[in-house]
Amino acid sequence: MTSTAPNEDVKETISCKLVSEIIRERIKSSGARFNANDNISDYILPGELDTLEKEVATRVRDLLKALLIDVENDHNTQETAERVSRMYLNEVFKGRYHRQPKVTSFPNDKNLDEIYTLGPITVRSACSHHFVPILGDCWIGIKPGEKVIGISKFARVADWVFSRPHIQEEAVMILADEIERLCEPQGLAILVKAQHYCMKWRGVKEPSTSMINSVVRGDFRHDPSLKQEFFELVKQQSNVANNY
Ligand SMILES: [Zn+2]
Repeated sequence: MTSTAPNEDVKETISCKLVSEIIRERIKSSGARFNANDNISDYILPGELDTLEKEVATRVRDLLKALLIDVENDHNTQETAERVSRMYLNEVFKGRYHRQPKVTSFPNDKNLDEIYTLGPITVRSACSHHFVPILGDCWIGIKPGEKVIGISKFARVADWVFSRPHIQEEAVMILADEIERLCEPQGLAILVKAQHYCMKWRGVKEPSTSMINSVVRGDFRHDPSLKQEFFELVKQQSNVANNY
C-alpha cells in the first residue's frame, strides 16, 4: 500500500457515484418526499434521465440473473433489461420522472356554474406493492370556478398522475389535488373503478373483482343533491362503458 491509495479510492468513489445516488441526495437535501407515487422531475437535471435509464437496466439485468434466467443466451430476454428500464422511466411510470403535461387555464368569462361530468377516462397504473397493473375507468365531475381548462386536459393529467406505482385511494386524492390546483373549481368529484391485477393474476386470483372509490370536494361535498347528480351521471355513462 502506498500513501496515495486512500486518495485514489476517494477519486474512484466520486467518479463512480451512481446517478440515482446523486438524485436521491438532491431530493433528501431539499427535504422532499420521494415515495413511489411522488413526482420527482424537479430534481432530475437535463441528461440525467438517460444515465438513470442505463443504471436501471443494469439493475434489471441483475434481477433477471438472480432469477436464474440465461440473459446471455436466451434470445427472448437478451434486451429485456433495457426494455423494462425504458418502459418504467418513460412509459408506465412516466408520471414520476417527467413533468406534468402543459395545461393552460382560461378565465371563466361566461360564468359557467352548471356541473359537467367527463368519463370514462381510461387510467393505467401499477400497484405499489407488487408492480402489477391496475386498469380502470375514471369519471370527473366539475362545478366550474374562476378558471376553466380544456376537457382533453383532464385525461392528460389523469394519465400523468396514474402513471406511477400507486394504491388506488391515493391516486384519486393526488389527481383531485392536481385538478384543484389547475382550475380551482367550486366543486370537484372523482370516481375510479379499477381492476387490480394483483388480485386477478396472483393472490386470490379473483378475475372479476373491481375496486371503486371516490373523492368529493367543495360544493359536491356540501350539497348532497349535487353529489347525487354526479353519481347519476356516472351511472348513465357507465352503462356504455367498456368492460375488461
Ligand atoms: Zn399489489
